[in-house]
Amino acid sequence: MANKIRTRYAPSPTGYLHIGGARTALFCYLFAKHYNGDFVFRLEDTDIERNVVGGEASQLDNLAWLGIIPDESPLKPNPKYGKYRQSEKLDVYQKLANELIDKKLAYKAYDSTEELALQHKEQEDKGVASFRYDPTWLKLSKEEIAKRDANKEYSIRLALPKNVNYDWDDLVRGKISVNSDDIGDFVIVKSDGYPTYNFAVVVDDHQMEITNVLRGEEHITNTPKQLAIYKAFNWTPPIFGHLTIITNMEGKKLSKRDKSLKQFIEDYKNEGYCPEAIFNFLALLGWTAADASEIMSKEELIKKFDPSRLSKSPSKFDIVKMEWFSKQYLKKIPNEELIKKLNLKNDEWSNVYVETYKQHCATILELKNDLKLYTNVKSKLDIPFETNDVVKHFYNLIKNQEFTIENIQKTIEQVKNDLKVSGKNLFMPIRIATTYEEHGPELAKAIYLFGQKAVLERLKKWS
Ligand code: GLU
Repeated sequence: MANKIRTRYAPSPTGYLHIGGARTALFCYLFAKHYNGDFVFRLEDTDIERNVVGGEASQLDNLAWLGIIPDESPLKPNPKYGKYRQSEKLDVYQKLANELIDKKLAYKAYDSTEELALQHKEQEDKGVASFRYDPTWLKLSKEEIAKRDANKEYSIRLALPKNVNYDWDDLVRGKISVNSDDIGDFVIVKSDGYPTYNFAVVVDDHQMEITNVLRGEEHITNTPKQLAIYKAFNWTPPIFGHLTIITNMEGKKLSKRDKSLKQFIEDYKNEGYCPEAIFNFLALLGWTAADASEIMSKEELIKKFDPSRLSKSPSKFDIVKMEWFSKQYLKKIPNEELIKKLNLKNDEWSNVYVETYKQHCATILELKNDLKLYTNVKSKLDIPFETNDVVKHFYNLIKNQEFTIENIQKTIEQVKNDLKVSGKNLFMPIRIATTYEEHGPELAKAIYLFGQKAVLERLKKWS
């Protein structure tokens, strides 16, 4: 029986969930779910200085908001796979590194920081383009080695074989091959006893039986190193796929410091975007459905997801498109639900309001802001306007009627027929005189929403 598909998202808890991370998590999730597999969330928290308090919870909460619920996580571990936070399994990495030392596949490197810097400098002076660690460079006496060993003043490096190719067939990029001579012996356990990213990730992926690794393309250079570690242990590596970068509309890699774009899932959550819209939008950042559909539910995306359709070129983060997606989803939310989110009374007015405004708003925040138009009614008209017969006639007809959308609509029609005016000449004076705005939703609805009292008071002034 083929292995169950298992994918994972392994963030460092260094901050909020960024759209790049969310997209990686999303693709891993879709991949696993498409093949009825498991999606694992685990934490790379060995960089103590960069960890932020609440980082793990914030990642998980934001993923949950998007509808990405991991099958396993630090909060829902499967004991069979060990710990889900790297900081809790330092002994595991240490033990495995020692096994490699025993087999002479790794060794202790006793260089101090200064000595290593010197080796770097010597290579630089010789014009070497990129540094390769030379295990024979450091000449120490037996006594000095014994002393440093006793003080644990060493890191552990992988002993790379000479001239061996590390090849993989990348899910996104196709065949890639890197020669061991172009890598050099690299550190797997640092002198403070912490594993490096490359070592820990291999151990975790192996122990958790991860079958497919999807991650950002910044990790391509790490993959040959990881393959070297798999080889040293004689473990079977997973299948790798490196997702292309997300750029802004000018084609530049997204910078987290760019404040002109909302890049954190938290921002979207706070502004009341529909999580389903963001889920849908993220899925199209570097992937397309075979039938070119755009609006797709989570279930449809799971069904249609096909890793061979992951894009090989960078994907543009198009905020306008994002807004469009959000509008499509907001429109579909039942009025009752929106009324609740806006803390409104569930009456006819609120129903007309949300029904009218959800047609063009992208977020709950916008919906809330537009509400101010009616709760904070303008007391002065701030555009040039002169009244005319249209306005006067409209007032005389509407003032004694029940104030319903239907009656307002019929009255506008009657003004049209009585005075033989239409189009802009009919709508604009009525709109300005009643709403104090030149633009707004469908006229009869706008007038209704302002309410009989406010509208009649205004009209009276123009008559
Ligand atoms: N913590 C790494 C990152 O966030 C994980 C890389 C990987 O998936 O191997 O980029």
